[in-house]
Amino acid sequence: MNFALIGNPNCGKTTLFNQLTGSKQHVGNFPGVTVDKKEGSIRKQEDATVVDLPGIYSLSPYTSEEIVTRDFLIREHPDGIINIVDASNIERNLYLTLQLLDLEIPTIVALNMMDVVTANGGKIDIKGMEKKLGIPIIPISASKNQGVDDLITRAVQMVRKKEIPEKRDFCSGDVHRAIHSTAHLIEEEARSHGVALKFASIKLIEGDEKMMKELEIQEPEQDIIHHIVDDMEFHCGMDREAALADSRYQYIEKLCSELVVKPHETLGQKRSVKIDRILTHRIFAIPIFLGIMVFIFWITFGVVGSTLSDWFSAGIDYLVGLADSGLQTLQVNETLRGLLIDGVCSGVGSVLSFLPTIVLLFFLLSILEDSGYMARVAFVMDRLLRKIGLSGRSFVPMLIGFGCSVPAIMATRTLSGDRDRKLTILLVPFMSCSAKLPIYAMFTAAFFEEYRALVMVSLYVGGVLIGILCGLVMKKLMFSGEPVPFVMELPEYRMPAAQSVLLHMWDRAKAFMKKAFTVIFVASIIIWFLQSFDIRFNLVSDSRDSMLADLGHLISPLLAPVGFGDWRAATALLTGFSAKEAVVSTFAVLLGVSGESAQLTALLGNIFTPLTAYCFLVFCLLYTPCVAAIATVRKELGGTRQAIGVVVFQTLIAWVVTFVVYHVGLLIL
Ligand code: GDP
Ligand code: MG
Repeated sequence: MNFALIGNPNCGKTTLFNQLTGSKQHVGNFPGVTVDKKEGSIRKQEDATVVDLPGIYSLSPYTSEEIVTRDFLIREHPDGIINIVDASNIERNLYLTLQLLDLEIPTIVALNMMDVVTANGGKIDIKGMEKKLGIPIIPISASKNQGVDDLITRAVQMVRKKEIPEKRDFCSGDVHRAIHSTAHLIEEEARSHGVALKFASIKLIEGDEKMMKELEIQEPEQDIIHHIVDDMEFHCGMDREAALADSRYQYIEKLCSELVVKPHETLGQKRSVKIDRILTHRIFAIPIFLGIMVFIFWITFGVVGSTLSDWFSAGIDYLVGLADSGLQTLQVNETLRGLLIDGVCSGVGSVLSFLPTIVLLFFLLSILEDSGYMARVAFVMDRLLRKIGLSGRSFVPMLIGFGCSVPAIMATRTLSGDRDRKLTILLVPFMSCSAKLPIYAMFTAAFFEEYRALVMVSLYVGGVLIGILCGLVMKKLMFSGEPVPFVMELPEYRMPAAQSVLLHMWDRAKAFMKKAFTVIFVASIIIWFLQSFDIRFNLVSDSRDSMLADLGHLISPLLAPVGFGDWRAATALLTGFSAKEAVVSTFAVLLGVSGESAQLTALLGNIFTPLTAYCFLVFCLLYTPCVAAIATVRKELGGTRQAIGVVVFQTLIAWVVTFVVYHVGLLIL
């Protein structure tokens, strides 16, 4: 038994999915979070699975969310549809419901957010609505887990009895006539392709090319359909899509005026409007956003963050010390002890010591997201990006890119249009992902103690700006055309839900720790090995004679013009390709210190000046994405050549930008 979960964006699909399946998918307070369909089995109903699909407003094929959902419905023939309707926005949500009814698939409406409706004096005559629409309707509140059990029972019963929605006509007059004539004409084709007749007819009348192709309608019939539609347009005095939309809305309006008492505007809505007047202000919006980011970095790296970090590093150092003295008392071989302590422990430890910072930063960012503020940022950025011809939709993947490029590149699937999509995939790796954060943290601690937050913001904003700039240039050179419009509702501001914030934080912490104990672990061993032996596999006393140094010397001449020709910097960048955190662990292994910043500061001071340190950070921000991100690019763009192209392109950009920064810096300082 297979259910499809369908509804408008932000109506609570993922929340309900999590309740139904007991899983923990990320619930976002802004649209575009659920990109892929996700499947799970329903609790206590082992034979029933449910698929969470991306949110859509309509079943027309304009955006890729709509196409994903439509294809799923038409091709996979789910046994039942659970249509989530946001009861506090019932009129707009029913628009999609009316289209689902034509599919002749058993459908049940989960009337969500009932808690909001009843709390604000709204009322919905459920029995009456069931009668009018001809399908079962269950009032629920997904986030409060109310009514979900009823929903499951009724949905399973519906599928067992194969309760197809009762036939209802939402239209009359000319539109009605047109639908019936078309249906008559294509009966054969619809049956042989297994598409519901009424649905197919309506789509054809709406001028849906995809459906026309899918049903393989022949030329003469196409002509007749065009004729029918022209006739309809002439009689209603509206174009085809407007005529259908209008009759649907009229039907919904009538239905709601009889059966729904609208909730009065909630305090939350009133408050949201007031807050938005300031936060999405034409001029102040961006400065406010920057201010908030500075504040966040100030907390993350200021007193709160550094205290947490210090405690955590002290803990790690203590454990490493214990292990070290243990190995010494056991009189373990000196080289092996070196590998374990100077290699593995300092490499993994140096990365792990940034765990509190990462967790704290993502705690604050998830609060921003869950409160609804990030949706405003996307909205404001849309306004800005649109002016220069990019779609504001690109900003959602860019935002996710601050966490990790891998899901961000996957999130570009929500972008309709190949052009926007490719362009965005090229921009995402310029964002400061969480793996770059330890590098920033280490260097700013060593060189920019007083201006940490500012340097951080300059890197974060710099990444976005360079990304946008590249986008603009590429748009001129390679991708022409208009950006696809971006429709997005702004959710109400609300108190962030502890569960969702904690979940988000935990996801990041888990990913970070996993990387530390896998990629960084291996990278540290390799680095330690390469820096402890020379080419003839003799143990070296000074790593300057090691094979790693030889390797570094091969690349360092290329990096000298951008400010850091030291072989250690070169090797750190090289290992950073496996994962950006490896830059940090490489320095830790090479310099032989773990975590402790005073000592590290002095040692890094031998390699960098503040200016070259900043150049190094800029280079790290922009140069090639890590292996995992490249693999994702390859998968999404479908080619090794493109993936290599991205590596070369980004490294080139990084080199050029750093070169400029370095030389301008030299001139000024
Ligand atoms: P999706 O975009 O349809 O997947 O929606 P989500 O599941 O991500 O939920 C959107 C927002 O609505 C989240 O902030 C949820 O916490 C909130 N939400 C979901 N269900 C309910 C509900 O029954 N009542 C209230 N008050 N909020 C809900
Ligand atoms: Mg979702």
